Amino acid sequence: MGALTGDQVLGLLREAGALLEGHFLLSSGLHSPRYIQCARLLQHPALAERACGALAEKVRALGAVDAVVGPALGGIIVAYELARALGVRGLFAEREQGRMTLRRGFRIAPGERVLIAEDVVTTGRSSLEVAAVVDACGGNVVGVACLVDRRAQDDLALPLVSLVKMAIETHPPETCPLCRRGLPLVKPGSRDVGESPSEMEAPRWPPCPGVPRTAGRPP
Ligand SMILES: [Zn+2]
Repeated sequence: MGALTGDQVLGLLREAGALLEGHFLLSSGLHSPRYIQCARLLQHPALAERACGALAEKVRALGAVDAVVGPALGGIIVAYELARALGVRGLFAEREQGRMTLRRGFRIAPGERVLIAEDVVTTGRSSLEVAAVVDACGGNVVGVACLVDRRAQDDLALPLVSLVKMAIETHPPETCPLCRRGLPLVKPGSRDVGESPSEMEAPRWPPCPGVPRTAGRPP
C-alpha cells in the first residue's frame, strides 16, 4: 500500500472526478470555484482502501486507536476503511432532530481511544460535534483524520491528520468574481453535484425536485 504524496492524492481525486470546477455555494455561505465530492472516489472500493490505508499510516502519529467514528454520511466510508486498516471498530454518528448522536446500538466504552474520521474537513464543525458525543460516553478523542483538509485556518481544537491539504479560494457573495461574470451558482446537493452532508446543515436548502432528502429520514 505505502504512503501517497499530496500530488498522488490529488491525482486520484481528479481521476475519480471528485474535483469539481464551477461556481459553488458552500455551507459557510461563501462561494467557491471548486468543490470536492469524495464520494466519487470512495465509490471505488480499491481507491477507498488505498486512500484510507495511506491515511491510516499517518494516523499512527496520534497513538493507539480503539475505534473510529465518522459523522454520517460523508464520514461513514472513511471511518469504515480506516477501521479496517487499523484493525479496530468503525462506527458512525448521525443527526437525530439536528443533534449528533450514536444510534443503532453503537457504544463507546469509557477510556476508549477514539479517532474521528471525515472525508473533507472545511470548518471542523462536524468533527467537534462527534467529539462531544465521544466525550459524553467517556471516550478519549485522539484526533481527526480526513482525506482532504480544506480549512482556511489551522484552528481546530483537536489534532488533525489529512492525506492532502488543499486551500480553496472562497469569496463572500458581495465580492464574488464568479457572480460578477454571471456564472450560475450551484448548490451542492443538486442532482449533478451530490452532497457532503458531513459538512452541511441538513435543512439549509430546499430539496431539489425528485431528489429525496436523506437527512432526518428514519433508519
Ligand atoms: Zn459567486
